[in-house]
Amino acid sequence: DTAKPSNFLRQIIERDLEQGNFAHRRWAGRPADAATHQAGEPDPARIRTRFPPEPNGYLHVGHAKSICLNFGLARDYGGVCHMRFDDTNPEKEEIEYVEGIKDAVRWLGFSWDAHGTSHLYHASDYFDFMYRAAEYLIEAGLAYVDEQSPEEMRANRGDFSRPGVDSPYRSRSIEENLKRFREMRDGKLADGAAVLRAKIDMASPNINMRDPALYRIKHAEHHNTGDKWCIYPMYTYAHPIEDALENITHSICTLEFEDQRPFYDWLMDRLREGGLINPPQPRQYEFARLNLTYVITSKRKLKQLVDEGHVSGWDDPRMPTIVGLRRRGYTPESLQLFSERIGVSKANGWIDFSILEAALRDDLDPKAARAMAVLDPVKLVIENWGDLMGGDDALDECSAPVHPHDESRGRRKFMFGRELWIERSDYEETPPKGFFRLFPGNKVRLKYGHVVECIGADKDASGNVVRVRAKLIPDTKSGTPGADAVKVKGNITWVGVADGLKAEVQLYDRLFSVPQPDTGEKDFLEELNPESLKVVTAYLEPSLGSAKGDEKFQFERHGYFVADRVEHGPVVGRSVFNRITGLKDSWTK
Ligand code: ATP
Ligand code: MG
Ligand code: MG
Repeated sequence: DTAKPSNFLRQIIERDLEQGNFAHRRWAGRPADAATHQAGEPDPARIRTRFPPEPNGYLHVGHAKSICLNFGLARDYGGVCHMRFDDTNPEKEEIEYVEGIKDAVRWLGFSWDAHGTSHLYHASDYFDFMYRAAEYLIEAGLAYVDEQSPEEMRANRGDFSRPGVDSPYRSRSIEENLKRFREMRDGKLADGAAVLRAKIDMASPNINMRDPALYRIKHAEHHNTGDKWCIYPMYTYAHPIEDALENITHSICTLEFEDQRPFYDWLMDRLREGGLINPPQPRQYEFARLNLTYVITSKRKLKQLVDEGHVSGWDDPRMPTIVGLRRRGYTPESLQLFSERIGVSKANGWIDFSILEAALRDDLDPKAARAMAVLDPVKLVIENWGDLMGGDDALDECSAPVHPHDESRGRRKFMFGRELWIERSDYEETPPKGFFRLFPGNKVRLKYGHVVECIGADKDASGNVVRVRAKLIPDTKSGTPGADAVKVKGNITWVGVADGLKAEVQLYDRLFSVPQPDTGEKDFLEELNPESLKVVTAYLEPSLGSAKGDEKFQFERHGYFVADRVEHGPVVGRSVFNRITGLKDSWTK
């Protein structure tokens, strides 16, 4: 059951701390590297984790899990988590993405300023070391330059049913390999003409051990190293080295990398034997990546949604990106809670979206101010109001607690009058069974206000209700003595016409209409939910007039809403709220 938290990583860390398994980690490589690569003194007996995104897009909810996990473990065990940009690919790194990633991590509540350093790590800073480590492997007879064509290489790698075939270049001399590798480095060979491969075992049952590529030729400019290099390390070669140079103790990654672990260890063992890294070496641990129902977590596909205009941007409130979730109204605390609840698992599975929504509700319920809002408004007219109150324009102040469990937060005030906005669905001419709200002859309480008895409704030519009519039952105002003498089964929310505020409310729903998008035959674009956004004009109680962008509320009966951090506010001159999620328990009749 992937929804159950598991502590296997914590158990490993606790065991390691107890046994002192990574105490006295110290740089033993070439001193020049130690100076440039290690920020500050090594920390004996302190765990080090890392979060290593590739800056090629905005982070999503899956990354949030990884961030909470890596930074959270470091925090909980007095360790350090490195913020590392994994930029070994010479693709154009976008500053926008780098900044977006930093913002997301900070917003989630984590910092990489632990223990007096606020150092950002970049994998590309280690290119010199990686290159020298590659020459070392060649010198030790553990790597060779292969000049087979990519097709030949693929064919000769074999598959699960048959062993691979040795490349004719596998038996080259060390001298020839070194010379050829330097020619690769010096730009003498074209892209794809050769690769440096580890010499391990072409018959290994683990295909990743069949002489994996370490370096490829790519005549491309790198944002950090410019045109210094035209060969770039492969991720599987680079990553363990990055971990080792940063004294990472627990290198936590997703399950896809499980089959890479033997190579990770092979490389670390060989470099340790060669004196390039010191024991104890970093260890890789895998956990199941987050798959969330109704959500896609592939940066490439999320980018496609943005580029093709299926959403308004990376921060569209329907996007599972951290900026999207934030704009939707999710809080850092809710995402941390979610990450804790789903725990870490060794088995891939799907986490139900409702677990994320429940975490949001559990976070907001004790915090969010309450308010009344009418999302599908129709007018209710109290016909005897003027007679009872001494004039049609008379108003009667009502109030409700800002938070039902915290009196100290005070009360919100709003005006009851002759005309009120109510939900269209609260009136039925012919009530279905079990309907206790407004229908001719029935009495209901207008929450925090008075009891009214429905008289009927006026309709337009096409039969739509344009106005519901009622009469007030005297001496029933909430909070006054004897108010409960008249028993009613229905209790409905409302907003006064006199002091109600008009606002735009964006009713968001799931971006995809199928629980496991992008897993079947269909193109994922065909699985988009056409009703993922409905914008309505609503009326809100006056207390919401001072709502600031990003402020969250519980709209009674409707769920949790946030003032849109981009579109709402006096500067833009608009009042825009987003539905984050509905209430757990649907409105009881
Ligand atoms: P994508 O496939 O969306 O591009 P990625 O894994 O290539 O994701 P990276 O930038 O390399 O993206 O990810 C940084 C870290 O976040 C990695 O350590 C990776 O394991 C982790 N991560 C990415 N996606 C998920 C996920 N769905 N669940 C948990 N961790 C994830
Ligand atoms: Mg990646
Ligand atoms: Mg990727």
